[in-house]
Amino acid sequence: MVDASVQEVSGVGPKLAEALDQIGIRSVEDLLYYFPNRYDHYQQKPLHELIHKEKVTIVGEVIHEPTVQFYQRRKSRLVVTLSVDGVVVKGVLFNRAFAKKHFIPGEEVSVNGKWDQHRLQITIDNYKKGNIDETSPITPIYSSKGEIKNAQFQKIIKNALSTYCEQIIEILPPSFLKQYKLPDRMEGLNQLHFPASFEHLKHAKRRFIYEELLLFQIKMQLYRKRNREETEGNAQNINLNKVKELINTFPFALTSAQQKSLAEIIKDLQSPYRMNRLLQGDVGSGKTAVAIISLYGAVTAGKQVAFMVPTEILAEQHEASLREFLPEHITVRRLTGSVKGKRRKAILAEIEDSSCDVVIGTHALIQDDVHFGQLGYVIIDEQHRFGVQQRNTLREKGILADILFMTATPIPRTLSITAFGDMDVSKIDQMPKGRKPIETYWVKQNMFERTVNFIYKEIKAGAQAYVICPLIEESDKLDIQNALDLFHRLQEVLSGKATVGLMHGRLSTEEKEQVMTEFSENNLQILVSTTVVEVGVNVPNATVMMIQDADRFGLSQLHQLRGRVGRGDKQSYCILVADPKGENGKERMRIMTETTDGFVLAERDLELRGPGDVFGVKQSGLPEFKLADMVHDYRALETARTDAIEIVADEKWKLPEYQGLMDYLVNEIKIDAKLLN
Ligand code: ADP
Ligand code: MG
Repeated sequence: MVDASVQEVSGVGPKLAEALDQIGIRSVEDLLYYFPNRYDHYQQKPLHELIHKEKVTIVGEVIHEPTVQFYQRRKSRLVVTLSVDGVVVKGVLFNRAFAKKHFIPGEEVSVNGKWDQHRLQITIDNYKKGNIDETSPITPIYSSKGEIKNAQFQKIIKNALSTYCEQIIEILPPSFLKQYKLPDRMEGLNQLHFPASFEHLKHAKRRFIYEELLLFQIKMQLYRKRNREETEGNAQNINLNKVKELINTFPFALTSAQQKSLAEIIKDLQSPYRMNRLLQGDVGSGKTAVAIISLYGAVTAGKQVAFMVPTEILAEQHEASLREFLPEHITVRRLTGSVKGKRRKAILAEIEDSSCDVVIGTHALIQDDVHFGQLGYVIIDEQHRFGVQQRNTLREKGILADILFMTATPIPRTLSITAFGDMDVSKIDQMPKGRKPIETYWVKQNMFERTVNFIYKEIKAGAQAYVICPLIEESDKLDIQNALDLFHRLQEVLSGKATVGLMHGRLSTEEKEQVMTEFSENNLQILVSTTVVEVGVNVPNATVMMIQDADRFGLSQLHQLRGRVGRGDKQSYCILVADPKGENGKERMRIMTETTDGFVLAERDLELRGPGDVFGVKQSGLPEFKLADMVHDYRALETARTDAIEIVADEKWKLPEYQGLMDYLVNEIKIDAKLLN
């Protein structure tokens, strides 16, 4: 492609090249793909549509001679009166007395500047005779952190486009351009930088959005393919009868969503390829139950299983569940940071000689001194907390076992096919029968006493409550009620009536565990906590989840927190304490009281807050697209994905019309050419 140094572009000298380098522009290609971040267009609007304090364009007739006032030493104020659709509007120019001669009574003039709705006045920046609206171009605005002037940017991009246009090679097969009515690459680039109209701009954007999504999805599909090919030959010989027997010992029947997910997982375990699957399901939907049954399947095939969770507390809880549900002869061991010395050595030996069937632990499990004799299956719970990095660690360590990632964060489809596009997805979108939906209320801060009384009533009836605060330390800026304060307040109000515990991120692991144990044994009736309880903790006796400053949390996070209650058979409640100022915050509180469906909430969260906030861009491995947007370009994303799946499944790159696309994947996206053999 256009690899030449950006200095080759006429108008780019060493100094400018350096400034460009600062914003990541080194080659001509980089420059051409540095898209405007917005466009200015001085479009005339009727007076009643103008917005106060915004930059506007007005066309009117000069009513009479402008007046000039001089003040201080050399300052001046030129006032022009215009008739705009019969309304008198004042135009003001500062220190440009010379402009007086351009405003001739009876003539039409276009002015552009900041609008003052209250005074019907415009502070004029630019003016032009006649009506400029019809001829006004759409101006690209580039963000360069102030280093490079916009006009300069426009000039060098224009130069680059005219010099290198011949070298801009189409990468999409012609049939795609035709089918989706997309402009070709060169035309698209020209229109993105210098749109002839908003219609042209729309199509140019459409083209590059599709292009970047398609390239990304092809990459994901190629990884998926590699994953399968690399691991051929790891079919597990599962004893399905034994698996059925185990299911029969359960005190409940699996929901049909659980059955479907389980079948998909078992099929993957049996297949000769490595499983790379994401199991999604709301808190309490029964993911762990499915995981336990499937891991038992692997054990019947003579394999060892590693079950990774993010915290010690969870490791303990899962260990208990494993012991509860698995037949007694299965050896289950827990290996976490707190297991040390002789005990740890003994467990490591059992892992190595394969006498231990299931190991549950934190990421200590993939440390270097842990050697599995027969590792066949790895389950990773609450996977986004492990991040993409850890996701790859397993592969890098040469662990080619089947992998199941579990998450209780319902992920909107657009995000999941992007961040986890290389994985297969199972979804448990149904709750076990008989669950009472959690009742959710939104209250104002001034209802504290009533809320506490309500909690006390529940406690008197034998239940327990969580009280969640967003931050541990007092922050002047955010004025967030901190956990400590609340802890003391509750202790005071409920003195002699209930015991209150405190948990926050500053406590050591042992201290946290101690508090958690006290709470799960009902020695503490109320647990005041920062969000550390968010992940997977299970105390079925807790029936109230009170969340302070609830508007500071996103919907997905609130949903996670709410999922901590409603785990027993008693009616549970979620109380959101918040006085949100903005509409957005109010809307979020309202939605929470209206639905308990995690997938619905996740979609709304994505719309209201954007992908970055739904699950931290850095952690999630979401790519940063130049133009594509997860919320608005949903359709393009689906189309690109379908096309990518087809291209990779049918090895279409072998067709001549895909040559450009494949060259680009290898040379620009740096896909290993071996994958395209
Ligand atoms: P998750 O891991 O998705 O949060 P769990 O598997 O821990 O959910 O299930 C939550 C609770 O529901 C557990 O107490 C579990 O024993 C129970 N459970 C799981 N599946 C069912 C089912 N099909 N019917 C009734 N209870 C179930
Ligand atoms: Mg779980």
